[in-house]
Amino acid sequence: MLQINDVKKQFKVSGKNIPILNIPQWHVAKGEKVAIIGPSGSGKSTLLHIISGILSTDHGELYVDQQPLHLLKEAARDEFRGARIGYILQDFHLIPSLTARQNVEIVITLKKSKTELRLMVDEWFEKVGLQDRMNHLPSQLSRGQQQRVAMVRALINQPLLVLADEPTGSLDWETADEITGLLMDLCASDKHTLIVVTHDLNLAKRFPRCQHIHELNLVHPLKEKVML
Ligand code: ADP
Ligand code: MG
Repeated sequence: MLQINDVKKQFKVSGKNIPILNIPQWHVAKGEKVAIIGPSGSGKSTLLHIISGILSTDHGELYVDQQPLHLLKEAARDEFRGARIGYILQDFHLIPSLTARQNVEIVITLKKSKTELRLMVDEWFEKVGLQDRMNHLPSQLSRGQQQRVAMVRALINQPLLVLADEPTGSLDWETADEITGLLMDLCASDKHTLIVVTHDLNLAKRFPRCQHIHELNLVHPLKEKVML
């Protein structure tokens, strides 16, 4: 599902190039559920942005579902992400002026009749226990409920690859546990590959595969800082 070969990424800050990622090799098989752990600032979000095609690579090869993302232009990567990848961003990014239901409806790319679409959205909101909150605005929902809407939005197009960036980062312990269980249930089938970034070791322990970013990424900004 995912193959990374010698991928590098740097950011230019005040005219200076700062290396962020240098990943010699990483492979995630179809259907795997992986937690990426590591400290703040170690490049976890940047890695998900690259896998999703939001950011381009500077060097190397990146294949997602056999597509060479490193060869695609931004518009083609955006199209690929819309059709194949469900990305649960840090801090949800729901549109404040749209209801929960509308936030989900605007991303649907599946070709179905209006009635079928309405029933499908109803079913998803039931799955995550929000059937009586569909017409609320994000500001009228708790953070846990907003996270569920963000999950429905990411999953409704039945993506093969689901990425989640700190999905429980801003939730209390109990809600975090519940949201993790829900995400794993929704992505349980062998079809879904799930990559979750977290610094919560309790959450990571629930995944069959746990990958520390420092084992992947040769750039260790914290170590460099200590050496300075
Ligand atoms: P994590 O998600 O592990 O906390 P990030 O991937 O967000 O880490 O960031 C990794 C490093 O890249 C940090 O040092 C951060 O300051 C830097 N960084 C992230 N995005 C940018 C950007 N757009 N421009 C410059 N530096 C950035
Ligand atoms: Mg991050």
